[in-house]
Parts: sequence; structure tokens; C-alpha cells
Amino acid sequence: MLKIKGFLKENEISLSRFISFCLYDKNQGFYQRNSIGKHFITSPEVSQLFGECISIFFILLLKKFNVSNFCELGPGNGTLMKDLIRTVNKFINHSLTFNLYEKSNYLRELQTKKLKGLKSNSLEINFLSKLDLKKEPYFFICNEFFDALPINQFEKKNNNWFEKRIIFENKFKLIDRLIKKKFSGKFKNGDIIEESPLTNLYMKRICNHIKKFGGGLLIFDYGPFRKMNIDTLQALYHSKKCGILDFPFKSDITYHVKFETMKKISKSYGLKSYGPISQRKFLFFHGINERIADLSKKIKSKKTLFDLETQFERLTTPYGMGSLIKCLFITNYEFESKAFGNYE
Ligand code: SAH
Repeated sequence: MLKIKGFLKENEISLSRFISFCLYDKNQGFYQRNSIGKHFITSPEVSQLFGECISIFFILLLKKFNVSNFCELGPGNGTLMKDLIRTVNKFINHSLTFNLYEKSNYLRELQTKKLKGLKSNSLEINFLSKLDLKKEPYFFICNEFFDALPINQFEKKNNNWFEKRIIFENKFKLIDRLIKKKFSGKFKNGDIIEESPLTNLYMKRICNHIKKFGGGLLIFDYGPFRKMNIDTLQALYHSKKCGILDFPFKSDITYHVKFETMKKISKSYGLKSYGPISQRKFLFFHGINERIADLSKKIKSKKTLFDLETQFERLTTPYGMGSLIKCLFITNYEFESKAFGNYE
């Protein structure tokens, strides 16, 4: 059995610390050994169409707003960044800087390889292990970044609150620990609250930067329009759902993000939030049909055409990624967007 450093000394750790070890431990963490696509697939890995539509969104904004820095948090294999650089560079002719903020050394190596040769005099690419930002506006992008961050869970039972924690007795086990903390709001027995301390930290950091210097944050993530008080934690092992304790360090662990909390944080910094809207809607309003039509004209092989249609279907289907993944944009700018409608 793989051991967690310091675990025996403490005997019991929080759920978020357990998830953090399982996914990000320097030696045995899931993201130190697995590229994106091995156990689960993400939109940029499905098709270049995803990155191209995001590029169109930013190109339209760049025509109005003076931003020359992009920063992607959790860029995985580096595929979205590659598609973004390739497309934005075709339409924008002033100098641009692209930053990739990544925690996993293994993935950073993949990203470096993928973006090799794209640098030029007017195009800077930086690989960041710390979120060091210039005092300038940035467009931040997070695709399935927040749902990969560790969470804690609290459950109301018999009118008391319990925190889910992890112990080790021959194997890892989840236990409920009675806590004094109370949660404001109306809750019934059986309700589960999920909190991601790191999400709140990153949101505050980015919103503060946007408030001071301008720019925006584009988020794509699995999550409902309104989050219920239920358990959404799940693990994926070779594309199959499993319990989070079934294959520690070998499975991906994720949960459904709470867009309401993100919006609340952005509001506390005086920013405007647009959405969330479904991924499907975002892609339709940012040219996916036009791009498909354009590419289809150039493609001669039936197989390639079929693959392209399958990719399109996968990204936009209302029975999967197209509606389960939502998109939220946070900014201090006011702009008109048919896709997002009015801001809050
Ligand atoms: N955006 C990619 C990968 C999503 S998986 C895609 O859509 O394919 C989550 C990514 O976030 C991984 O690259 C993971 O290593 C990174 N990550 C998770 N926590 C992080 C943190 N605290 N700081 C920086 N990167 C982190």
C-alpha cells in the first residue's frame, strides 16, 4: 500500500489533504504520471475546434480592450494553449505573452515539448511554477482546473455537522468527525456541503488582479447552474467511475464546482460575471458551425470528415460535455455578448 507522508504520525487527515496527496504528491501523485486522455478526456483533447472557438472569443475582446497577456491555469498536455496561440496569432499582430501555470513537473515537460518552436520576436511563452503576474491586464483561462482542486465535505446528520476525514486501517477509510462549525443558511439532515479552499484562494487572487489591472477570467468546468447540497465527489480510473478510495494515486478525483461561489467572490471585488452558460451555447455563438463548414470544404478524406463530425458531436452534445460543462466569464469590462446576455 502506498503511504502518505506524515500520515501515521497524525493518524487522520482532512479529505482535501488526502486528495491533494493522491493527485499532486511530487513522487506518487496521479498528475505526476498521467497525461490528460489516459483516464479521462477533456474538450481541448477532443478537438482543436474547442481552442479555436475560445480564440475567437478573445480576438473579439482584443479588438476593443488593450490586453497582451494570457495565462492558463492547469494547462494539462498544453493542447488548448497550442490551439490558442496558433489561432490568436493569425488575427492579432501586436506582441503577446502566453503563460502556463502548472503544478505537475511531468505535465510541464509535456507542455514544453508541445509548444516548442512557437516562440517568436512578438510571441513570448513562459512556464510558471508560481503565479507571478506583471502589473498588467491578463486574460486568464481555466479549463477543468477548478474541478481538479481538492475539497472538504461536511454533512448534516441528527442536526449536527460532521466533517468527512480519512483514516488508515489496513486501507484508507472515510470517517465522519463531529465538528463545532455551523453553516449559515437553511440545511436539512442529509445535506452535504462541498468546499474547495484552493478554489476560493485562486478566485480571490485572480479577481484582485483583474480589479486592479483589468482583463478577464474564462472558466469551463463540470457543474450545474445551481448546485444542490449533495455529494458530487467521484474518481475516474481508465474512463470508468469508481470510489475515491478504490485506486488512490492511480485514479483522477474530481467534483462539481459551485459557480454561485465563484460569482459571489467576483462580485465582492466589484467585477461583472457573465453566465454560466452551457459549453454548447458558448461554442455555437463563437463560430463552431462556421469553422466546421470551413474545414469540411478543405477535407477530402471521408474518415477525417467523419472524425471531425464526431468531435463536434462530442463537444456539443446536450447529453454530455455540451451541457454538463458550463462556461463563466468574469471581467471588469462591460461588453455586449449575445452568448452570455447581461452580466450580474
Ligand atoms: N486544462 C487541461 C487539464 C485539466 S486537468 C485540459 O483541459 O485538458 C487539471 C490541470 O490542473 C492539470 O494540468 C493539473 O496538473 C493542474 N493543477 C491542478 N492543481 C494545480 C495547482 N494548484 N496549480 C497549478 N496547476 C494545477
